[in-house]
Amino acid sequence: MTRPIQAIVHTSALVNNLLVARQAAPTAKIFAVIKANAYGHGLLRVAKSLEESDGFAVLSLEEAVQLREAGFAQPILLLEGVFSEAELAVVTEHQLSLVIHTHEQIEWLKHAWSPVRIDVFLKVNTGMNRLGFMPQEFPEALAALRKCPIIGRITLMSHFATADEGQGISGQWALFQRLNQPFGLAMSLANSAALLRYSETHGDWVRPGIMLYGSSPFSDVSAAELGLEPAMSLVSEIIAVQQIKAGESMGYGGLFRADSDMRIGVVACGYADGYPRHALTGTPILVEGTRTRTLGRVSMDMLMVDLSALPQAKIGSAVTLWGGALSVDEVARAAGTISYELLCARAERVSIVEA
Ligand SMILES: *Cc1c(COP(=O)(O)O)cnc(C)c1O
Repeated sequence: MTRPIQAIVHTSALVNNLLVARQAAPTAKIFAVIKANAYGHGLLRVAKSLEESDGFAVLSLEEAVQLREAGFAQPILLLEGVFSEAELAVVTEHQLSLVIHTHEQIEWLKHAWSPVRIDVFLKVNTGMNRLGFMPQEFPEALAALRKCPIIGRITLMSHFATADEGQGISGQWALFQRLNQPFGLAMSLANSAALLRYSETHGDWVRPGIMLYGSSPFSDVSAAELGLEPAMSLVSEIIAVQQIKAGESMGYGGLFRADSDMRIGVVACGYADGYPRHALTGTPILVEGTRTRTLGRVSMDMLMVDLSALPQAKIGSAVTLWGGALSVDEVARAAGTISYELLCARAERVSIVEA
């Protein structure tokens, strides 16, 4: 008998969520963002489910090569470009597309040679201040790129810092338009939040990530309200039941103290599985489909749940940590984080099954 914890990945949800993206951005091409092992859902499985997208965006060369070797022929964008000149040989061999965000990367490209041209996404920093050329450097970077013999199409790219928040994108978007005005390059800006909220920014390529996995990019609109379906259910089982008396405490630090006699279930899921240790008493959780709450501190391999209102629950009862009727967004909020972190944190020891 293996530990009962599993991550169920719902293929149909991925397909549905891609359709939601398609309907929200009908004129743009879609790079399905599947970095970080497809936000913890499994790279190749997700790529297969999302093969109707127009391309894939990943972080590392290894991920891109894995996709090519599995037979995916659509454009694959390396979101941070190459990390060394040596990587360019692999890029040209597999015809990958590159984000270009430093002068060094342009220097490397000057020396590269290949019979096929590669498409690049020139990244300008419009206010995120993380990656990209400063507005005043950008025309020169563009001119230098255009001189590189192996460069194919050039798309202008930027990333929004606050597309998911009240302040919106207007400053960055205005600057981007002003920079591109003399050149009229193809454009790529929108992450999930901008895709859903700012259709004016769609341009030629949108780059949805989190929404494809069925989670909301906004704190004030739920995934269900956006028509998104959760792609991952993290499930496990009750492996022990304890009866404790009023006044007794439980778990590390004795953090939770019962104010009346109560039944407690022990669930095979802990922070070593990727469940957030910051989730304190009261984090929502489903036992046999009924919503209850976690109790006390999450330990490495286990956590505790309140079974007071679930007299039928016993060893072997099904537990949903997130997924289905319990949005990962709700669990993330209770743990003081965002769904992205929880999904990406799925531990290797939690196997994925497809449904
Ligand atoms: C991760 C990433 C995205 C996707 O963002 P979501 O918020 O998950 O939609 C888009 N663009 C870039 C450059 C990224 O790194």
